[in-house]
Amino acid sequence: MSDKFEQHQKRQEKIKKAVDEKVAKATIEKGLFLVITGNGKGKSTSAFGTVARAVGHGQKAAVAQFVKGGWECGERNLLENAGATFFVMSTGFTWETQNRESDTQAAQAVWQDIKQCLSDDTIDLVVLDEITYMINYDYIDLDDVLMAIANRPKEQSVIVTGRAAHRKLEELADTVSEVRNVKHAFDNGVKARKGIDW
Ligand code: ATP
Ligand code: MG
Repeated sequence: MSDKFEQHQKRQEKIKKAVDEKVAKATIEKGLFLVITGNGKGKSTSAFGTVARAVGHGQKAAVAQFVKGGWECGERNLLENAGATFFVMSTGFTWETQNRESDTQAAQAVWQDIKQCLSDDTIDLVVLDEITYMINYDYIDLDDVLMAIANRPKEQSVIVTGRAAHRKLEELADTVSEVRNVKHAFDNGVKARKGIDW
């Protein structure tokens, strides 16, 4: 019993030492660029969780939602009330209607609005939700997005979400997470659920 206790104690001390060393080495302070991609569920909710974190600290956040579902979304209702600014594609791209011309126009309108935020140093966090699809469909120019993110104010953080993030976005990012689909209820015929899926 006491052997086990000692072993545990030693292991914890080792872990603490390694973590302390890493913490001591992390001295750079700057806004971060995060990419949350992959086929599993949890990309947008992760981004909105971070918006909640930021506004909870009194920071300013702006969100662009590039894919409009057929429903209102709970996170927008909450976070707009908490002071976050939202730009939403009101017309155009949904999974149902795919008219190239009107979709491009709608995507560009939101992009031009949120691009302003990417040069506004009073904004702490910018979320580009589902922008990967707009880039992969060529509705928004990849280089335009890369430039705007690369040249943003030094203290500003950016989160990009969406499946199949372009390699160049991942290269520019500080943190990249890939959410892997292990299983999803929808594949077993379960309907998208209020409060869970939107
Ligand atoms: P969430 O908004 O729940 O974090 P997400 O941003 O990771 O999901 P999207 O690809 O943006 O995923 O999908 C949006 C919607 O599709 C959500 O309602 C989500 O529950 C659902 N969804 C996500 N992943 C899958 C999947 N692998 N199969 C089926 N539906 C999915
Ligand atoms: Mg999403």
